[in-house]
Amino acid sequence: GTGSSQDLANASVRHFSSAPSPQSNSTEENGFKGHGMLAPFTAGWQSSDVHPLIIDRSEGSYVYDNNGNKYLDSLAGLWCTALGGSEPRLVKAATDQLNKLPFYHSFWNRTTKPTLDLADDLLSMFTARKMGKAFFTNSGSEANDSQVKLVWYYNNALGRPDKKKFIARSKAYHGSTLISASLTGLPALHQKFDLPAPFVLHTDCPHYWRFHLPGETEEEFATRLANNLENLILKEGPETIAAFIAEPVMGAGGVIPPPKTYFDKVQAVVKKYDILFIVDEVITAFGRLGTMFGSDMYNIKPDLVTLAKALSSAYVPIGATLVSPEIADVIDSQSNKLGSFAHGFTYSGHPVACAVAIEALKIYRERNIPDHVKQIAPRFQEGTKAFAGSPIVGEIRGVGLILGTEFADNKSRDSPFPAEWGVGAIFGQECQKRGMLVRVAGDSIMMSPPLTITADEVDELVSIYGKAMKATEERVA
Ligand code: PLP
Repeated sequence: GTGSSQDLANASVRHFSSAPSPQSNSTEENGFKGHGMLAPFTAGWQSSDVHPLIIDRSEGSYVYDNNGNKYLDSLAGLWCTALGGSEPRLVKAATDQLNKLPFYHSFWNRTTKPTLDLADDLLSMFTARKMGKAFFTNSGSEANDSQVKLVWYYNNALGRPDKKKFIARSKAYHGSTLISASLTGLPALHQKFDLPAPFVLHTDCPHYWRFHLPGETEEEFATRLANNLENLILKEGPETIAAFIAEPVMGAGGVIPPPKTYFDKVQAVVKKYDILFIVDEVITAFGRLGTMFGSDMYNIKPDLVTLAKALSSAYVPIGATLVSPEIADVIDSQSNKLGSFAHGFTYSGHPVACAVAIEALKIYRERNIPDHVKQIAPRFQEGTKAFAGSPIVGEIRGVGLILGTEFADNKSRDSPFPAEWGVGAIFGQECQKRGMLVRVAGDSIMMSPPLTITADEVDELVSIYGKAMKATEERVA
């Protein structure tokens, strides 16, 4: 759900949605048609008129619905089941830990062994810059909320109470809690929620195809965006800006890899004004781009790192923030003065989640998952980009195992299709009919398959993608 155009796009699916499934979860006795869940990122008409797609089981890169239909899961759940849907080692790690110690917390200097081990693993795996400590959460949103609190605590400790504003980017996705939704740069997450919070500013979306000026190269575009960022900082006053947050490749905003030289240039600006750099690696960590972290690919040297999703291959909820040694030191000495670092969750460092994450990290290293992604990515990228010539395609973009496709009339960025045509939704339906689930957001569709996807499965993905493209062309023409 990323905007009213999405709702319209979804609305058009109504006319050709599939027949009701035999097992419905009706709550008509409550005065509602449809099921009783207030569904995330779903329109009211969808939960009241249409039976949801109920996914029942998973196997490798595939999921099955409750009618036995099989789908290639091209988004790996929500960009997260990196090791696919049936990795027995993760199941064993969870059940072993459940049998031994299903829960203990990490408050007041009490904790569990898996919690400490996972912190050590993460600190040794993240090498783009040496990090000092790991803080655990249950999700990416909580991790980004925690980043804001960590940065405020840090600046207060340093006696800089005015250095509190955050700069995020238009079309960023950082989560949906109050603060992480504020950092997010998508209008749908702000509208009617009284967001963003006033301390959050948004700078340019680094989408070259959409926003470059006539004749402007990628490098020149990156320079202009870095200059705009610097001007924003100067206008607000550098002493008021605490941190800049960015995804290495924007995910939910439409899969937007950075233009050449972008991260070099924005890092230089941020550094110049003593502003912390937070890299949100919730989608890009653990091999998605063909490197262990997105920071490795783009030479990002962050002060704070946000992790979730593939951290446990999504088998159990867990998120984390990594903080630099300097920030960790300041937080330690401040908490000594105050009596404690009074932030944390019941489930921070949950032993079952940590045990699963430790095993997932072991698998990423043992199977050299980033290398597998590097090897298979050309098949995925070139296979799908072969359809870039389609008259309904504006741009196909991606890196590693993440890809976005944006539809546009006559290939022009200036002539979007009428939202009510629901071109993205039509493409999504054409994929689903052929046994593949993709993510639709307005006239963009997105894919980020499990990192364990095989060559044959990539070929199947590309084949369905191509057939759906042809079918969509026919329906739109
Ligand atoms: N950050 C990024 C880059 C994400 O893609 C997401 C989720 O899609 C989040 C943060 C929020 O994570 P969660 O949904 O686990 O709260």
